[in-house]
Amino acid sequence: MTKTANIDWDNLGFDYIKTDLRYISTWKDGKWDEGKLVEDNNLTISEASTALHYGQQCFEGLKAYRRKDGKIQLFRPDQNSKRLNRSCNRLLMPEIPEDKFIDACIQVVKANSEYVPPYGTGGTLYLRPFIIGTGDNIGVKPAPEYIFCVFCVPVGPYFKGGVTPVNFLVSDYDRAAPFGTGAAKVGGNYAASLYPHKVASEEGFADCIYLDPMTHTKIEEVGSANFFGITKDNKFVTPKSPSILASITRISLMNIASMYLGMEVEERDVYIDKLDEFKEAGACGTAAVITPIGGIKYKDNLHVFYSETEVGPVTKKLYDTLCGIQFGDVEAPEGWIVEVE
Ligand SMILES: *Cc1c(COP(=O)(O)O)cnc(C)c1O
Repeated sequence: MTKTANIDWDNLGFDYIKTDLRYISTWKDGKWDEGKLVEDNNLTISEASTALHYGQQCFEGLKAYRRKDGKIQLFRPDQNSKRLNRSCNRLLMPEIPEDKFIDACIQVVKANSEYVPPYGTGGTLYLRPFIIGTGDNIGVKPAPEYIFCVFCVPVGPYFKGGVTPVNFLVSDYDRAAPFGTGAAKVGGNYAASLYPHKVASEEGFADCIYLDPMTHTKIEEVGSANFFGITKDNKFVTPKSPSILASITRISLMNIASMYLGMEVEERDVYIDKLDEFKEAGACGTAAVITPIGGIKYKDNLHVFYSETEVGPVTKKLYDTLCGIQFGDVEAPEGWIVEVE
């Protein structure tokens, strides 16, 4: 029997739970220290930290999965490492070497393995790596010091009782500027999204859809997830734009659509007034995996795709294949899985 923490696995949501240990490494005098696991979940930083004033911070999100044989695995952590470093470069923060990043994730999972939900509950251990600018500084410039931390939280399946579609509202607001930080996973983009999200949810929608900031004619993001559509002739289509955050779930689905389901894949403009070309649509990201899009409200019209209450067959197949790979039930393409223990 695998040892597990005293948690009601069937009622886990997406809420903070303090786990036993987190990894911390600090950057000072031009280099990262060795890094270590600590018990304290509070950080003590200078009141003048750039992360607090100028938004110099970025983060990642990935999951550890418990397999049927009890072992634990990570899904494509090398991709999170590469993306974190792209975000760091955009905000002039020091990169984390890929082996250090993956080692930190593995250490955190091993140290908190009791919190990895049992296979079959649909739950996972969500890892949150992040980097913040710290140290004493008041002018607008890169911080003199940085903290890299990875902590983890057990989370439940996003959909309890089956994958079900939700509706989205096209927002009048933008989440990112054309040559801004839309392609970097930075907190500032999220701060800017809180208000449009509130507007959408007050109108009864799950979240909002952001259009391209330059022309407001093309779909960019669905809340904090990427968009995909399945055309009537069965192509997997997803938007292409420099201000989209390149989702790892999305590139994985592009591969799955072509390699496992034999579909054609297109990365191109998706016009908000041409939604008729799709028979199904969805939003994808690590937290929700795939959220089927029931309908999209644009101006005064609600465009319904497959159904407002049932997931479409292609979306379901993509979802099952991806989850199968992540939980170790379906053979993964080479290099996608890192076994922890
Ligand atoms: C993290 C994120 C996603 C999803 O990326 P995954 O790598 O699939 O988790 C999509 N959009 C935004 C804005 C994000 O921050």
